[in-house]
Amino acid sequence: MSTYDYDLFVIGGGSGGVRSARLAASMGKRVAIAEEYRFGGTCVIRGCVPKKLFVYASQFHEHFEDAAGFGWTVGESRFDWQKLVAAKDQEIARLEGLYRKGLDNAGAEIIESRAELTGPHSIRLTKTGREVTAERIVIAVGGAPNPHEALPGHELCISSNEAFHLDTLPRSIVIAGGGYIAVEFANIFHGLGVETTLIYRGREILSRFDQDLRRGLHQAMEAKGIRILLTDVIEEVTKTEEGLAARTKCGELLLADQVMLALGREPHTKGLGLEAAGVQVNERGAITVDAYSRTNVPHIFALGDVTDRVQLTPVAIHEAMCFIETEYKNNPTSPDHDLIATAVFSQPEIGTVGLSEEEAASRYPEIEVYRAEFRPMKATLSGRAEKMMMKLIVESAGRKVIGAHILGHDAGEMAQLLGITLKAGCTKDDFDRTMAVHPTAAEELVTMYNPSYRIKNGERI
Ligand code: NDP
Repeated sequence: MSTYDYDLFVIGGGSGGVRSARLAASMGKRVAIAEEYRFGGTCVIRGCVPKKLFVYASQFHEHFEDAAGFGWTVGESRFDWQKLVAAKDQEIARLEGLYRKGLDNAGAEIIESRAELTGPHSIRLTKTGREVTAERIVIAVGGAPNPHEALPGHELCISSNEAFHLDTLPRSIVIAGGGYIAVEFANIFHGLGVETTLIYRGREILSRFDQDLRRGLHQAMEAKGIRILLTDVIEEVTKTEEGLAARTKCGELLLADQVMLALGREPHTKGLGLEAAGVQVNERGAITVDAYSRTNVPHIFALGDVTDRVQLTPVAIHEAMCFIETEYKNNPTSPDHDLIATAVFSQPEIGTVGLSEEEAASRYPEIEVYRAEFRPMKATLSGRAEKMMMKLIVESAGRKVIGAHILGHDAGEMAQLLGITLKAGCTKDDFDRTMAVHPTAAEELVTMYNPSYRIKNGERI
């Protein structure tokens, strides 16, 4: 019997923390999990889940418009922001309850307190001052929005955290950033009727994505009425009688009710007592770990966003399951971060897995690009001017599909399934001999028989 209070102490009740605590407890380990805010973490409380609910809410005005083309007359419609926020909060509370129940049923002790390390095996619970010890410790405290403190007036701005709880829906908003959060919220607010401006420092939004997705989404967002400013940044935010004013480097003065900063998320490691435990962090404050999520202190592990590997919920959960395999099932398993399918819940949506055309062209001597752009069937009767884009990247020598990119309805759903094919190493010939499901948009993925173009040694041919 170990002399520690617990076999495992988990700091942070988000996706990675809850999964590791629940699994270890269900194996009979003595587990405690501490959370200072709410169980569920960023994903459930102020990230993926409420965001997706807001995305649904923001799409209805287009649905109402589209209905006319199918013979429907839709009466006057009105949107109530407070009602949406309340309904969302109710659902989040339900999910939080499920997270707690899962932990409880597995036999993990739930501790509602901030927890800080005081030594390699000891943790202080700040609410009561109680100090406990554990044989193993998992740090899964996630990240927080970059507050961009160098920006004068940053304290007047909101982040995605506040966007979920605004008292009133702003009439206008300026969103800074060109990543997942900026793009998703620009579409949400625009869809809810807010005059929306996106300002991004680079030449095109979504810097790490395939160029066709980036350009295609940009055009579609502008066509809807979202203003997008590129190669510009906000230099100062001040209060005005009406709301806020954001002055940009290129000399624009953007007036809006709210300014939202979506400039990346930082590991939440400040004040965690990592020095006392001897745990090393990198220059961004992220905990450095080996291939098994082990820190430089052999019995302390770190999972999810706090390690700044890939900031995605399923990745944190996967890392937690690998930790359990390695430490409690005698089956050393390192998380596989290769070929992670992902979606941006923009409007239109992005679904993507594997290499972008640009990355593939720089890695392989020759690639084939299969690309289709078409009007989705629903748009024929609705009359909505929208296009869907699908693209497969194939390395010519081995015929393997190494990238798949979709812009349009249900792109995220398709990316999940495409992820399996890429993970399995399917070739373009496997795609070609797969029968189409008709009539769907996805059938295009198995009927693009001839390459649109090739890229050989960096040259398009
Ligand atoms: P991202 O890393 O996606 O984007 C950050 C954006 O801020 C980039 O456009 C970046 O520009 C820009 N930026 C960073 N620093 C500055 C600066 N000092 N001045 C001006 N611009 C700056 O982060 P997000 O905050 O959007 O999201 C955080 C993470 O959460 C994502 O990386 C993603 O992993 C996850 N997430 C996933 C979602 C999903 O799966 N659908 C949804 C939301 C979040 P540049 O590109 O030039 O560096």
